[in-house]
Amino acid sequence: MISLSVIVCSIVQLASSASCPQSIPTVSVVPRCPSNEIEWISAAGKKNCSALEKYQNCSKDRSFVYHCVLNKNATELMEVCAPIWYMSGFCALFSMTDRRIINDPVLDCTKFVPPCPTRFPSNESFKYQMCYSHIKLPTAPQSEKEEHTTFVMTVIMAVLVIIVILVISLLICIRINWKKNNNSRKPRCEKIAENVDELDELIIEKKDDSKEIDKISPVDVTTRKDVEEEVTNFETMSGKNILCSLKNVVTIRDLREKLSEKESVPLKCLLVVDKENGVLYQDATVFEPCKKERYTLMVGNKNRTQGFKEDGNVHTDVISNKQISHGKCQMCCGHFTVPETLFDWVKDKLPGSGDVELQCPRCSDVWEEEELVEKCNMSEDEKLFLNCVLEVNEKTKKMKQ
Ligand SMILES: [Zn+2]
Repeated sequence: MISLSVIVCSIVQLASSASCPQSIPTVSVVPRCPSNEIEWISAAGKKNCSALEKYQNCSKDRSFVYHCVLNKNATELMEVCAPIWYMSGFCALFSMTDRRIINDPVLDCTKFVPPCPTRFPSNESFKYQMCYSHIKLPTAPQSEKEEHTTFVMTVIMAVLVIIVILVISLLICIRINWKKNNNSRKPRCEKIAENVDELDELIIEKKDDSKEIDKISPVDVTTRKDVEEEVTNFETMSGKNILCSLKNVVTIRDLREKLSEKESVPLKCLLVVDKENGVLYQDATVFEPCKKERYTLMVGNKNRTQGFKEDGNVHTDVISNKQISHGKCQMCCGHFTVPETLFDWVKDKLPGSGDVELQCPRCSDVWEEEELVEKCNMSEDEKLFLNCVLEVNEKTKKMKQ
């Protein structure tokens, strides 16, 4: 009875409908088909097959309608506008070659759970979802999402890599600059140090150094010019601070000149000393900015003769052997000298000598520290330095013994 009705139906369909070329342009592959009536109405509305109805001649009974069915090989789903085809218990397929809906004997949906009826209109295929169950749900949107995430991650990684490269480059630049700066200073200090080693002998030997200045190579002058814009702080023996620019300062003499000008002190009253070692820096000695703490300033008394009584007599200076009538001072042994000459003699004889006392060059009487301070009319700085010198000399003497 069933097979008879299928045959009848097929004959009716063959008579009423054959291929429909107008369906072909409406075919679109879709990831899924509507799974209920509401979705079906919505999808059919979008497809709007009724608008094409008047351009087709496949169906005369206004049944050129929306379908969502399998393709001929049952591998994909497609939406298509086509005349309604009555299915005889098989899943509906659209054949592009036949250009119409066809029955697929392989997909007998009467055997599915739930089963389809032995006869149903092709446009109601959404009711028989088992026909589509073998079609895998599309993964496209997810993979798109993944693709998007991957793209964003790639961009972030690229940006991070660029930032890291930039930071590393910046650090390298800073380091190179720092090294450059260091190198430009280092050789100068080392160079100066070499010169100082050579000149250290000069300090000990206490040569008259004013002629030695010419020996300083002009290279030193040029290598230093760039640094010395900066202002450096120097401390005096009595703890006063004096700021001085080191521009063009190459030797101790240069420094003294700068300081004496800045402090309005006569050049002879501004000496640079090494209080640790109890010695005076000689004018020809190269000034080393990197060993700044070794330099202490000694500001002297401008007017040493002030305060000594004049007796109007002429005496022989016990140190210089010159005849002196005024500005003289008498030592405890009775011999005369001039404060300035005495100070120069002290400065010449004591620092670096290892001697702890000074004797009268004529009678060999000892001139004590107190007397030297008084007769030289020493400034506070000079007193303090003399004290340092004698302390150092005392130590040297003990070490020798
Ligand atoms: Zn004497």
